[in-house]
Amino acid sequence: MKSWIEIKADSDFSLHNIPFGIGVIPGSGPRICTRIGDKVVDLSIMANNAYFDRSVFKDSDFVASELNNFISKGKQATGKVRSAIIECFLEKNYNESEAGFISDFMLYDASDIQMLLPVRIGDYTDFYSSIEHATNVGIMFRDPANALLPNWRHIPVGYHGRASSILVSGSSIYRPKGQVKPADASSPVFKPTGQLDFELETAFVIGKENRLGESIPISEAEDYIFGMVLFNDLSARDIQSWEYVPLGPFLSKNFASVISPWVVTMEALELFRCAGPVQQPEVLPYLKSDGDRNFDLNLDVLIKPGKGNEASVCQSNFKYMYWNMSQQLAHHTVNGCNMRVGDLCGSGTISGHAEGSYGSMLELTWKGTRPIVLPDGSDRKFLNDNDTVIMRGFGDKGGVRVGFGEATVTILPPKQ
Ligand code: CA
Repeated sequence: MKSWIEIKADSDFSLHNIPFGIGVIPGSGPRICTRIGDKVVDLSIMANNAYFDRSVFKDSDFVASELNNFISKGKQATGKVRSAIIECFLEKNYNESEAGFISDFMLYDASDIQMLLPVRIGDYTDFYSSIEHATNVGIMFRDPANALLPNWRHIPVGYHGRASSILVSGSSIYRPKGQVKPADASSPVFKPTGQLDFELETAFVIGKENRLGESIPISEAEDYIFGMVLFNDLSARDIQSWEYVPLGPFLSKNFASVISPWVVTMEALELFRCAGPVQQPEVLPYLKSDGDRNFDLNLDVLIKPGKGNEASVCQSNFKYMYWNMSQQLAHHTVNGCNMRVGDLCGSGTISGHAEGSYGSMLELTWKGTRPIVLPDGSDRKFLNDNDTVIMRGFGDKGGVRVGFGEATVTILPPKQ
């Protein structure tokens, strides 16, 4: 699909993508927007000019500081908005006066638009669904011979995280402080974390609600998923290893997580659908999914030191996931837990087989024992102050590229 807007071949925002986000339009404020190439499109102006079905959306629905209401209209409705945008920007539909009007009133350079958190996240859950990641962590912290705990191949293991500290890409955070117990000490000390880490994840946004007490059948799970974002689940490993027994992570995870600003719809990702790994032993019937439920999405992590250039430290892929999103959602609701529009579910750290595909510094440096050397000559066991972590992700098939853009976060020295 060729557009009359210039889209570079390596752009994540092809005409096939049409993600949704919240951009602050200069002089107007937050609006529902999409992105095509290097341009942000103000959808509230498209609505005002009758590009969308007014029996479903009021023009004012696009004047919003979150996507929740928009998403709650349902995939059929939001899918029609996506289709209308594609039609409008297709090269074959080019009309000089219309294009002039659109360029003057609806298009902005992406670099001029501040992006906000796309959804109001009510609840956030994080899974632990990469077998390579869970195995690596098991080898490092427990028993190499029995790295996976007995439940792991039967349950998409997860925990409830905290939504209040989920930030949009471009944010900065202070290095968190907490209780740490040095290996050679008998009591803990209070200090800034010395083992600040990223976790390379994606997350899916809930687009449809189930009632409390009703489970989402696995065959219908994808109907409840609106789209996906990149997700950096920042973690303080030294705080985590002291606090996590017996209830799991707490302050080591809830100080900040970061998502990319554009929610890429499942319709746009359809092209990248692929088979997942064979699951052995067989899962219980409520977790049995048919067809291809994984997605072939390249994922990269780069570190940019305060004074230096960005350097790649990890290349992974979402297709490695052992448990797929349908299984995660079916499991999450099997007890009747209700999901709400805007809820966010993290995949868990996405590691591959190869060492360069591990999705955290913990694994990449093997608990700090094998530091990574960056091109500027400095080495890293974990993240340093003034480092910026950059995550990128995209699918590329048959010449069609659909991506997320970036999820970036900068680490500031501890707050005094
Ligand atoms: Ca995580």
